[in-house]
Amino acid sequence: VIELNGVRKSYITGDLETPVLKGIDIILDKGDFIVILGPSGSGKTTFLNIISGLDKASEGDVFVLGSNLSLLKDSHLTKFRRNNVGFIFQQYNLLTNLTAKENAEVGENLSRDKTKGLSITDIFETIGMTEQMNKYPHQMSGGQQQRVSIARALAKNPDILFADEPTGALDEEMGRKVLEILVKVNKKYKTTVIVVTHNPNIAKIANTIIHIKNGLIDEVIKNTKPADPKTIDWS
Ligand code: ATP
Repeated sequence: VIELNGVRKSYITGDLETPVLKGIDIILDKGDFIVILGPSGSGKTTFLNIISGLDKASEGDVFVLGSNLSLLKDSHLTKFRRNNVGFIFQQYNLLTNLTAKENAEVGENLSRDKTKGLSITDIFETIGMTEQMNKYPHQMSGGQQQRVSIARALAKNPDILFADEPTGALDEEMGRKVLEILVKVNKKYKTTVIVVTHNPNIAKIANTIIHIKNGLIDEVIKNTKPADPKTIDWS
C-alpha cells in the first residue's frame, strides 16, 4: 500500500539546511497495523507527513495507494488526502460549535465518493459513543473527543488512517481505550492503521514496528503476537 524509495527530507531555514530523513526505503503492507517508533527528534512526524501527503519529500519516490506523491501538484495532493486517508492528531481539532455526530459528518462530507463512506451510526457503535452523539466537545472528556476525531476520520472510510501520538494528551484509561478502538477499526474495517509514538510499550500493539533513529530506519520488526492495549505497561 506504501512504498518508499530513497526518500530524503531536509528543512531549509534561511541558509541553513537540516537533513531529517536521510534515505528511507520501505514497503508497508495493506491492512497492517503499523507503529512508527523512535526517540524525540528522530523524524517520526516528518516520515508520517510524507507518507500521508501532508508534506513532500526532498528526494525519492513515495508511492501510496498507487500514486507517486512526489510527482503530484499541491492541488492533487490535497485531493489525494481528501479522498483516501484519515488523520488523528494529539490534539483532537474538533469544531466546538458542532455536536459529535456533526463533527463526524464533516469527515463524511469531505469524501468525494459518498458511497464509499461508512455509516455514522455504525461508526459510533464501533467506538462505543452512541450515547454521546448529540453532545458538544466541551461536554465530553478528552478521550471521548479523541474518539469523535476517530469517527470523523473514519466517516469517509479511508484506506489508511494516520495517527500522530494519538494518546499523547490522554491519561492511561482513556489512552488504552483509544488504542483499543484503533485495533478494532483495523480489524473490523480492514483499514491500514499507522501510528506514531515514542513509547515502546504502545508499539507492542502493532503487527509491524518501524524503528526510526536519527532519520534512518534502524529496524523493522514483524510482531506475530501483537499485545492487547488492555495489558501493555503504561508507565
Ligand atoms: P517528536 O517525537 O519530538 O515529535 P519526531 O521524531 O516526530 O519528534 P520530527 O518532528 O519529525 O521528529 O522532527 C525531526 C527534526 O526535524 C527535529 O530536529 C525538528 O526540529 C526538525 N523539524 C521538524 N519540522 C521542521 C520544520 N518545519 N522546519 C525545520 N525543522 C523542522
